Amino acid sequence: MPNQTTSRITCDLTGKVAIVTGAGRGLGRAIAETLAAAAAKVACVDVNADGLAEVTGAIQSAGGTAEAFACDVTDSRRVGEVVNEVVKKWGGLHILVNNAGITRDSLIMRMKDDQWDSVIAINLRGTFLFTRAAARPMMKGRTGRIINIASVAGLMGNPGQTNYSASKAGVIGLTRTVARELAARNVTVNAIAPGFIATEMTDALGEDILTGVKKQIPLGRLGDPQDIADAVLFLASDAAGFITGQVLTVDGGLTG
Ligand code: NAP
Repeated sequence: MPNQTTSRITCDLTGKVAIVTGAGRGLGRAIAETLAAAAAKVACVDVNADGLAEVTGAIQSAGGTAEAFACDVTDSRRVGEVVNEVVKKWGGLHILVNNAGITRDSLIMRMKDDQWDSVIAINLRGTFLFTRAAARPMMKGRTGRIINIASVAGLMGNPGQTNYSASKAGVIGLTRTVARELAARNVTVNAIAPGFIATEMTDALGEDILTGVKKQIPLGRLGDPQDIADAVLFLASDAAGFITGQVLTVDGGLTG
């Protein structure tokens, strides 16, 4: 089966080991396939076993190296195990992409405690847990790239997404602080803030809302998962070695 990924930039990640969370579908899958196509060994992390089997199978069929790791990013013990298993298997860890994320939208007046808690737990605590676990092998190896998938909702807010925008603003704050903490060990930490990208997450918005959304995007279309995967590939590459603590917005001009 051909690799579905067609990155438009060329980077060589030979010898690099990457972890991608939420790799079972959507942006995470495109990111995992793109890093693998650039010759990185990719640990695909997700709660969705079927999605994991699909993405790792596609990468392996295309000649890449990938392995599935079933893991809930909110489970501190399991996160530590995954990082240890990856380092043991492939001898190090060079790239971490914190991509797993959910939405549980509701206006503030109607938002339930569990809608708040689950979004903060997966989007923010999950990013914290994997970043903390990955920091040790990266610092030891004196090199690393941590790339956190935030959102324009964390920059500009979005009605109905108090929980989500707070989690993503938190991811941006985490990114800026960890960048300062790890810089001395040559570990860079950046965030990408996607706008509206065509995945199952945005499919759930429905046709009417998406038509309205497109009218607000200067480039007149939703993004493609590859638009985000290519930004990740750049930040993961040697070319981005002097960039840290930044938020790269990829939104077709929505927030410009
Ligand atoms: P998606 O299609 O919903 O995929 C998310 C993946 O994460 C799914 O495979 C999901 O598994 C997995 N996941 C959910 N909870 C998890 C957990 N606790 N532990 C491990 N994996 C978990 O989402 P997406 O659109 O690709 O979004 C990916 C990231 O980009 C998210 O952080 C999202 O907030 C961000 N983002 C997306 C957009 C957009 O327009 N799509 C815009 C801005 C930011 P299941 O299949 O079991 O649910």
